[in-house]
This record gives sequence, C-alpha cells and structure tokens, in this order.
Amino acid sequence: MSTPVVKIENLVKRYKELVALDHFNLEIEEGEIFGLLGPNGSGKTTTINCLLSLLSYDKGNIEVFGKKMNPDSYDLKRQIGVVMQNVAVVDELTVYENIDYFCGLYVKDKALRKQYVEEAIAFVGLDDFRKFFPKKLSGGLLRRLNIACGIAHKPKLIIMDEPTVAVDPQSRNKILEGIVELNRNGATIIYTSHYMEEVEQICSRIAIMDKGKNLAIGTKDELKQMIKKSESISIDILDLPDAAIDEIHALKHVYEVTYENHMLTVLCSGGSHNLIHVLDYLQQHEITFGKVYSELPTLNDVFLEITGKELRD
Ligand code: ADP
Ligand code: MG
Repeated sequence: MSTPVVKIENLVKRYKELVALDHFNLEIEEGEIFGLLGPNGSGKTTTINCLLSLLSYDKGNIEVFGKKMNPDSYDLKRQIGVVMQNVAVVDELTVYENIDYFCGLYVKDKALRKQYVEEAIAFVGLDDFRKFFPKKLSGGLLRRLNIACGIAHKPKLIIMDEPTVAVDPQSRNKILEGIVELNRNGATIIYTSHYMEEVEQICSRIAIMDKGKNLAIGTKDELKQMIKKSESISIDILDLPDAAIDEIHALKHVYEVTYENHMLTVLCSGGSHNLIHVLDYLQQHEITFGKVYSELPTLNDVFLEITGKELRD
C-alpha cells in the first residue's frame, strides 16, 4: 500500500459548544480528484483549515504525505496549493504581481518563477488581464486569479474549497476543466462542493459529509449502490384501479408505488428489466398508458437517502 497523501483520523473540532467536526475520518490516495461533498455548514472548510494547520483542533491526527501536519510544517506546505473559498488576493497588486507574489513564497529562483507565473496565467486564461488590478476583474475572472495564485508553484496536492460558488457557467466549466488538467499533470486534488453535478462530473472518489461526520465514501457508482433505490419509473395513466397498485407493488424488486395526478411512480431496488415487468403488467390488464419515464439514481438520491434531506444552496 502506498502512503496516503492525506490521512485524517478521528478529527474533532469544536467552536465553543458547537461540534463542527465529529470524529471525522478521511484517507486520500495519490492521483485522486477527491470530492468532499456536503451542504453549507457541514464542516468542509473547517476540515480544510484543520488539514492545513491553520486551525487548531480538539482531538485527532492529521498526516500529509505520511508526515504529521503542524503549523510550522513548511516542507509540507510548500507542496500544497490552496484555493480558499473566500478569494484571497492583494488588491494593491496586479494580476501578474499577485501570482508572482504567491508563487514567490515557495519558488525563489527568479527565472523559474517567471516561467511558472506565465504558465499559471496561460492556464487560467488571464493573459489579456495581466496588468489589471483585482477590483477591475469580474467575479469569474477574480476566481481564476485566486486559482492561479494557489497553483502557480506546481504543488503536488491542490485543495480547492468551493471554487465555483457564484461563478458564471463559462468560468465554472473552465475551472472544472482546469482541475481535471491539473490532475492529469500529476497533482492530487481535494475539491469541496455542495454541487452534486460537479463532483459527479470530475471526482474519482467522493465523501458525503453532514454535520461534521463522514457519512459515506466511494466512487459515484459505489455510492449509488449503497442505496436501496436503483430505478424510478414514472408512467402517465389516466385511470388506474386501486387493485393494480397493490399488484404492481407485489412485482419483483418493487418497493414503493404511488399514484397521484394520473402519474404512476414505481421505485425499484436492484434487478434489471424492471420497466419491462411493469409495462407487461399494464398490457396484460389492458390498462392504457401514455408517456413512460425511467430514471437511474443520482448522487442527489444518495445524499437524500443517507442524510434524509436534500442538498441545496
Ligand atoms: P462548510 O464549509 O461545509 O459550509 P464550515 O466548516 O464553514 O462548513 O462550518 C461548519 C460549522 O461550524 C457551521 O455550523 C459553522 O456555522 C460553524 N463555524 C465555522 N466557522 C466558525 C467560527 N469561526 N466560529 C464559530 N462557528 C464556526
Ligand atoms: Mg465552506
């Protein structure tokens, strides 16, 4: 087994009486794009701040690259790039100067630094804005600058805390593509989000957290297999006899049947050909039906089933 890039064991963090992290555990392997998914207030940023030793914690152990992480672990911090949830750039410096400043914290060689800064500018597509001050940038461009400042020194581990919140779709896509590219170039990524579609799109593994706990962890397919629902079938039916509802409920793999507003909804767990069985039943009983929809589970369903609530803004 290779040494995990990040290992968090039994982490407890309290803000006075509020328990923000409640025996939180996490292991991340080299090469992953790891998604930390949870609603606002679930403890994502607190986890990141503890991981970086920016915040003290009450209990637990944190290792990065196999070594204990402390506030003065500069050798470790040099290998980590951080893109904070709240944009952290210097207003008095231009785009170029900002990236140069943050890169310069870790890269002292001037020629190498110039190369790295240029590469970061190209990477986030800010070439036309290199002389702009942050205040003159749109929200999306400012986010891209924030990212460039965090990654210019080519860290092995990149942590991005909700980098796409309040970002226009175009910048959002650019950011997501950028993350995948950074990963392809060898960086391990930790990505926090409360957007289901994003983690589903780019993450190799996902942890679902709520109220400071890690509730489930796995690839998106593994997470989907953890839940009961495997298929949701909806069929327009003008008139469905009550007896049919019970009989459909008795079909194999069916665990929930509802009929409301002329719409029959059948939830199935496991099994294939569920839709065919339901349609066969309707045909045999000469029940006329209209449109048919079948949906496989989403991460949203996983979240709902595990936490009992919807994930939303
Ligand atoms: P997330 O990043 O998932 O939105 P946070 O880690 O920011 O969650 O917050 C976790 C919990 O800790 C929330 O209930 C939040 O209100 C609380 N919290 C965060 N920072 C502080 C703080 N500095 N003082 C007191 N409570 C805090
Ligand atoms: Mg946060």
